[in-house]
Amino acid sequence: MEGIVLLYQDFFADWIEVMKDYGLKKLGLHVNTEQSNMADFLCWLKANRPLIERAEERGLTVEYFLHAFGYLLPEDFAGHRENWRQNEDGQRVKDYNCCPSSPELNSVEKNAEALAKQLKQYSHKYHFWVDDDFGKDIICHCEKCRNYSQWQQGLMLYRAMEQGVRMYDTEALFSYLVYGNSVFRDAGIDLGGFFIEFAPFLRRHDLPLAAKENKSYLEKILSLKKNFSHVDVLEYFLSFDYDSFCRGEQYERVKEDVRFYKSLGVEDVMTFAVFPEKNYVKKYGFSGIEKYAKLWS
Ligand SMILES: [Zn+2]
Repeated sequence: MEGIVLLYQDFFADWIEVMKDYGLKKLGLHVNTEQSNMADFLCWLKANRPLIERAEERGLTVEYFLHAFGYLLPEDFAGHRENWRQNEDGQRVKDYNCCPSSPELNSVEKNAEALAKQLKQYSHKYHFWVDDDFGKDIICHCEKCRNYSQWQQGLMLYRAMEQGVRMYDTEALFSYLVYGNSVFRDAGIDLGGFFIEFAPFLRRHDLPLAAKENKSYLEKILSLKKNFSHVDVLEYFLSFDYDSFCRGEQYERVKEDVRFYKSLGVEDVMTFAVFPEKNYVKKYGFSGIEKYAKLWS
């Protein structure tokens, strides 16, 4: 299934018919935590429920792409230094996620169930993510966690959210977000209930995946496909953040990448569409979106 992930503030009624007309099947809504937060998004969702329902009635699948972990930590987390992650220098720091061996995960589980209830989505796919590492070491080095790899620690955090969501939706299928730099050599553990969501945001966005500069990303997705039964892709084809809107030379590059993902037999290929200014498509129209959608027809 192919579709578009928008910042929730950029979604308005016209998108529904545009996506239907162009044959795009899935709408993702995303919160950019640098611009807004989960609480604002949930207020927006409550106020815009009729719009979401209309999209679903028209046959679009609607899902939410959320860095939710920080939001799911309990309110008193700040007061529990012993549950913060321990950095390489042995200091407890409250910068990313929490110590995966801490009891905070019980609260995360409970809060994830409550969040899923609020979203009320028809689709069983959930994209609740942990904090972005941006390639940095943000794992916990405490005595209990230090023998777990980055991958395993990630899974502990994701598992807590997944268990919570599953209390609400027994058919939930949960995203494990993998950037190009994630190492999963030691992934030989049960990933039941999860799918891999490959988001190569550190790739070169001005060159196709087949270019030698993107070799590691190409190898990564081939390896993921080999190791896991269900791999989805989250790309940045229509995101101005990456100078990669589907136009000019970029059109050929995106065309080549789409052909590659098609040949791979990936179930869902979603792409971010992030615009350089508010009301961008109201001003300039949807022609870039149409051009992109045609690559899938
Ligand atoms: Zn720890």
